[in-house]
Amino acid sequence: MAQLRAFAEGSRQAGRRLGLVPTMGALHAGHLQLVAAAAAACDDVVASIFVNPTQFNNADDLRLYPRLPEQDTALLAGAGCTALFMPGVEEVYPQPTVLRFDFGPLERVMEGAHRPGHFNGVATVVSKLFHMARPHAAYFGQKDFQQVAIVRQLIADLSFDLELVVAPTIREADGLAMSSRNRRLSPEARAVAPLIYQVLQTAAQQVRQGVPPAQVQAQALAALAAEPQFTPEYVEVADAQTLQPLAGYEAGRAVVLCVAAHLGGVRLIDNVVVE
Ligand code: AMP
Repeated sequence: MAQLRAFAEGSRQAGRRLGLVPTMGALHAGHLQLVAAAAAACDDVVASIFVNPTQFNNADDLRLYPRLPEQDTALLAGAGCTALFMPGVEEVYPQPTVLRFDFGPLERVMEGAHRPGHFNGVATVVSKLFHMARPHAAYFGQKDFQQVAIVRQLIADLSFDLELVVAPTIREADGLAMSSRNRRLSPEARAVAPLIYQVLQTAAQQVRQGVPPAQVQAQALAALAAEPQFTPEYVEVADAQTLQPLAGYEAGRAVVLCVAAHLGGVRLIDNVVVE
């Protein structure tokens, strides 16, 4: 942590623009586009790789989370990253944290509702990283739509002086959103995984046609459940700003469709926004 502070301080003193890209590693093209975007707009790019235990509510998910430090280090060097922060758990958490974050309605839905404590862990580690690196800009992916909303609120509520940059979701050729957890899918599970995006696209089409949210939700859940390997956890048709479930549509307000589903012991999430 002292090293990160020293690097960031040196960068600032030299008048350089510093970008921060927080990750949990097992990097893929979704992560690397964040690094590339940061490299294009900043003089220094700090990437962090930290599988943050406080944001996991499932011990197996934490234990089985892919860890590929050597491969990640090589990928980052090639993507324009100038400094890598890969701390151990004791370095980030020398003592258990007492402070608890509560984001109100923003976290009472979707990931926050289904993964108790998840966004407290996210807000804790993101705050620590922001304090240590004091970046001019921080880069996050739309893939974790609710996380972006939480981080935006965190930045506003705690007056972090930085620009939040949100990059689009990068997908495999068959539509599956790239995710470190995809590495854990069996070939059979991987073969049906693109159904999530297909269901989202159908739902987006229905939203554009004005099909009522409850009907869109029910049909999407049924389409996922029709594939025996899938156990859907939720499908939400929500206001893209407040993340609250919609009873109907309002002109000029973007809609976000969010899915979480279990597939062969792996929990996957995805979303699309309908403007
Ligand atoms: P993670 O390592 O999964 O915690 O992700 C680190 C950052 O990369 C987060 O801001 C994610 O939203 C972003 N990210 C992960 N997967 C993708 C993807 N497929 N497309 C775009 N951004 C992504």
